[in-house]
Amino acid sequence: MRRVYLDHAATTPIDPRVRKAMEPYLTREFGNPSSLHAWGRTARLAIDEARETLAAALGCFPDEVCFVSSGTESCNLAIIGCALKAPPDRRHILLSAIEHHCVLDAGEWLRPFGFEVEQLPVDRYGQVSLDTVRERLRPDTWLVSVMHANNEIGTLQPVAAIGALCRERGVWFHVDAVQTFGLLPVKVDALNCDLLSVSAHKIYGPKGVGALYIRAGTPLQPLMVGGGQEHDRRAGTENVAGIVGFAEAVRIAESTRETEAPRLAQLRDAFIRAVLETIPDATLTGHPTERLPNNAHFRFVGVPSDSLLIALDRAGIGASSGAACSAGSLEPSHVLMALGWDESAAQEGVRFSLGRHTTQEDLDYTVEVLQKTVAQIRARRAK
Ligand SMILES: *Cc1c(COP(=O)(O)O)cnc(C)c1O
Repeated sequence: MRRVYLDHAATTPIDPRVRKAMEPYLTREFGNPSSLHAWGRTARLAIDEARETLAAALGCFPDEVCFVSSGTESCNLAIIGCALKAPPDRRHILLSAIEHHCVLDAGEWLRPFGFEVEQLPVDRYGQVSLDTVRERLRPDTWLVSVMHANNEIGTLQPVAAIGALCRERGVWFHVDAVQTFGLLPVKVDALNCDLLSVSAHKIYGPKGVGALYIRAGTPLQPLMVGGGQEHDRRAGTENVAGIVGFAEAVRIAESTRETEAPRLAQLRDAFIRAVLETIPDATLTGHPTERLPNNAHFRFVGVPSDSLLIALDRAGIGASSGAACSAGSLEPSHVLMALGWDESAAQEGVRFSLGRHTTQEDLDYTVEVLQKTVAQIRARRAK
């Protein structure tokens, strides 16, 4: 049976070059980077190099890059770490309603500590408008977080403009760039952000490693304590192999980005067209043009996404109903609800996310299977 993986927004396979770069640090180069002897120095050097690679990709200074255990930890550290430094009269925080749970739940975590956390609404395409941010900013606002691109529906956000406004108002600005990094240009100065989160396993690197960009001067309370690692911002012996693998993944992504993004966008556009033209009552979710080059999200009216995903899986196709952590739960997607969908509509959303190995044939096969399965499920439910 043909196997087609279309869930790259959930995770990506490790690139063989990444695995090769990591290997020495899983075997002979096992030193603790904090040790002063030769073993330690080798590990330290590897981390320093990786930090420079990330800094070059992000357009920042190496010591503004803090390695952490995941995109989730990066966002937690940004939101909670920055909030805990807020003076008592600046405890208002704005988060877009479609943020990943690692941002939204960090906001919830802060509430009992006296923070007022407010969500920024989005339009029907899932975009936060600059005017909305302007209206909601208050003299006591301390921090704003708006993601670069949404992981479920792929919509890109006007982060550069929002960042400029925040800076003008003296408000700290965090961007979750986990979905765009390696695929689109992510330069911290162009985005006008103070904090920015990235993750390795979304860009063909290993799972369990991420980074937080921290602009020099941004207040941040460490959440991990007990060691001076990462310039006293994140205690704990570094995941040396993971960090080296992350850097190699960044190098590969950055060197292929300019050809890969248009290739994906072209495949995606043809896929969207084929789905909308051949399957009745199918609609595209998210922004028609301002979207991730590898994201296609649809609603198939009358087709529950769990039934469809099971049928697709049986045909060898891996897709998703949205965030991997909410898949399997019956909770409707908070992203689709934020678009103004009702609960039953929100149970009918399916995401296809393309990747480096996706081909035209993969997508032709997927369209073919979709036509059949959508019709079958509808017929079964009409009985
Ligand atoms: C995957 C993802 C995260 C979480 O990253 P992990 O490394 O899996 O913890 C955060 N934000 C977005 C937008 C993501 O897609």
